[in-house]
Amino acid sequence: MGIGTVLLLSALIAVVLFLLMRNKSGAVAPSWIPIEIRVTIPPKEYDQDWEVSSPSSGETHTINLHRLVCSCADQQKRRRYHRGDLRRHCTHLNERLRAEGFTARMRPMAAAVVDGGYTFGRRMEMFQVPASDEPNDFVPVLIAVNDANDWADVFGPDDNGGIRAFGFDLRAKQWVDDAAPVASDRIGKYILSTAG
Ligand SMILES: [Zn+2]
Repeated sequence: MGIGTVLLLSALIAVVLFLLMRNKSGAVAPSWIPIEIRVTIPPKEYDQDWEVSSPSSGETHTINLHRLVCSCADQQKRRRYHRGDLRRHCTHLNERLRAEGFTARMRPMAAAVVDGGYTFGRRMEMFQVPASDEPNDFVPVLIAVNDANDWADVFGPDDNGGIRAFGFDLRAKQWVDDAAPVASDRIGKYILSTAG
């Protein structure tokens, strides 16, 4: 066999393997999204349109949970984000994911975002922040800064070992509502160093 044939065969095998794995797993969020914030994609049986109406505005939207799309203007702008990425979600998708019990299948951090009804802009980042001077003592923190750059939604560990949402005022440089995550001083400094 010539080298050309070998290369061609290898390429064919790679394509076949890729297609097989893709079919088998259905919809899997990309692994480059940190596992703590990777959204569990609803399976194929959710590939159907649902009509949902917003109680506040009275508007009706059509959503598809498997494809993670919504007909609202907000979500149309979010489709450049991959399924599995929280930035793809509008409030309607989060609402329906919560109602269908999908947050129970997510890691605590992703669940806290969806359960809390948060929607994120472009500036969402996940960090492992040193919690102390001890080696290997890190806490996972998700930071979402708003477009005005004056506020950060921060998801991090609370005193009870859970993950919840906190607010950090970037102008006043302090946590709001007297609530702060574990290692709040270090996390606060970290936010200011990255968000400024
Ligand atoms: Zn929507």
